Amino acid sequence: MITVVGGGPAGLMASIIASWNGANVRIIERKGKLGKKLLAASNGRGNISNLDLDETHYFSSDISFVKKVFQRFGIFQTLSVFEEIGVMVKNLNSKLFPYTERSKDIWNCFMYELGNNCVEVVLNHQINEIIYSNKTFYLKSDYTTFESDKIIIATGGISSPQFGSNGSIFQSLHSLGHSLIELRPGLVPIKINNYFSKDNLGAKLTGSVVLENEYGIEISKRYFGEVLFKNELLTGIPIFQISNFVHKYLDKNIPVYIRIDSFPSYTEKQLEEILLKKINLRPKRPISLLLTTMIDEKLIPPFLQSVEIKDFLSPCSSLRLKDITIIAHRLKNWKFEITGTADWKLSQVSLGGIDTSEIQSFTLESKIVPGMYFAGEVMDVAGESGGYNLQWAWSTGYISGESAS
Ligand SMILES: Cc1cc2nc3c(=O)[nH]c(=O)nc-3n(C[C@H](O)[C@H](O)[C@H](O)COP(=O)(O)OP(=O)(O)OC[C@H]3O[C@@H](n4cnc5c(N)ncnc54)[C@H](O)[C@@H]3O)c2cc1C
Repeated sequence: MITVVGGGPAGLMASIIASWNGANVRIIERKGKLGKKLLAASNGRGNISNLDLDETHYFSSDISFVKKVFQRFGIFQTLSVFEEIGVMVKNLNSKLFPYTERSKDIWNCFMYELGNNCVEVVLNHQINEIIYSNKTFYLKSDYTTFESDKIIIATGGISSPQFGSNGSIFQSLHSLGHSLIELRPGLVPIKINNYFSKDNLGAKLTGSVVLENEYGIEISKRYFGEVLFKNELLTGIPIFQISNFVHKYLDKNIPVYIRIDSFPSYTEKQLEEILLKKINLRPKRPISLLLTTMIDEKLIPPFLQSVEIKDFLSPCSSLRLKDITIIAHRLKNWKFEITGTADWKLSQVSLGGIDTSEIQSFTLESKIVPGMYFAGEVMDVAGESGGYNLQWAWSTGYISGESAS
């Protein structure tokens, strides 16, 4: 008997692969439903993978572990499993979705496979303790103890606990000898120094976003997309991406800034010319209207404050050439000091997890407890937004399911 603990995407993949190989498989899930995060993925659209797949899109203490996993089971092997279970995929700028863009449809395919392969599904049981004795695992829930020859740990991290993953297994894994790399919320909104009023709620800025240190040196990849302002919180895909880089600085109280370039395809000189032309055409128009159609109107007052222009009702012609240069510069360099991130409830992935140096990359079997395997986010691996986290769940679910069986 192989018992898979955790019925998320990694556990679902591990269960069907082990059952295809002829094993007797049981899956135990603490919630009343399997695969809640799969259903929630991309607001129910299910960005299940990305064709641009390699280890550079991941965060881990040992990135070579990620590389080895994808060498063993990458995107094309994943697509062949999807084909086998009847999932038709769609490619949108290298992001893969079910053709219908409904996570529920891929979830249905997994549910059929579980039934068709007689996988025993146990819902509403949280495994609180794992005991390993005489080559048998004893898995204790509040109601009963399950026995198993081998187990696959697919319990996720602690991000978005409302979907099930609550970290309840880590204490027991620690007791069995495994180490935990400290968990931090990833793909999460960022908190900034709050000089925004409630009027900015829902304001948007599209552009390229990067993390900088106090010396103005870029310390993350650049990401492009829409940034949403919600008082002291910034959110949106590029913000989620940046959030994966911030903890190592915040943990050490090192100041760190987010810089937004809302005109990445314009130079500062070009922006100056655009502004001067606008001023020359309507010199009497108030300064408050100068940036209309250039940035979200809700952001114009705080933007002008950030360049120390206070009298928004004065005519544009009162601006000095120096002011125009500063505005053009700021349009490409709006900087905010990051003070923290939102909490676990809004986080899509957990940075940190079980130390991968204690896991064999080829089989995903524990180097400490024979017969115990790992799959998915429970390990110290997290990906960028864009299908990378579900791909990690599919690859590691497959390898652990195959190795255990
Ligand atoms: C809102 C949201 C949207 C997302 N969108 C995307 C996306 O579009 N693309 C993408 O690639 N990634 C996305 N992600 C991330 C992705 O969903 C996760 O990385 C992925 O689900 C991790 O899979 P997993 O099986 O390892 O863990 P989880 O999905 O967290 O599953 C773990 C399961 O184990 C169960 N469990 C935990 N502890 C126990 C226990 N002690 N006993 C029994 N059961 C237990 C939990 O209830 C849960 O069902 C999103 C995440 C969120 C929150």
